[in-house]
Amino acid sequence: MFGLCESCDRAGEVFQLPGRTDRNCTECTADIAMLISLHGLMKQANWESEITAELEIQAQPILHRLLARRKPGRYGPFFSGVASKGLA
Ligand SMILES: [Zn+2]
Repeated sequence: MFGLCESCDRAGEVFQLPGRTDRNCTECTADIAMLISLHGLMKQANWESEITAELEIQAQPILHRLLARRKPGRYGPFFSGVASKGLA
């Protein structure tokens, strides 16, 4: 499907992840999918501190990459979700 990425505003092929309403470009979708799976692992680890800390370390550069790609002033649905619920 062609459209505007809701995270970085780039026009191109956009994808919708299962259970999500936002559509994002290939790169943002890959990063968001990775963050979601890391978040899932943190949940599975039951927030066990060592594992969660390790997963958070893995999540940080992905989150920063997403934020860096984001168009200035743009606060897409993914980031709004993070802001309201927190990533972890
Ligand atoms: Zn994007």
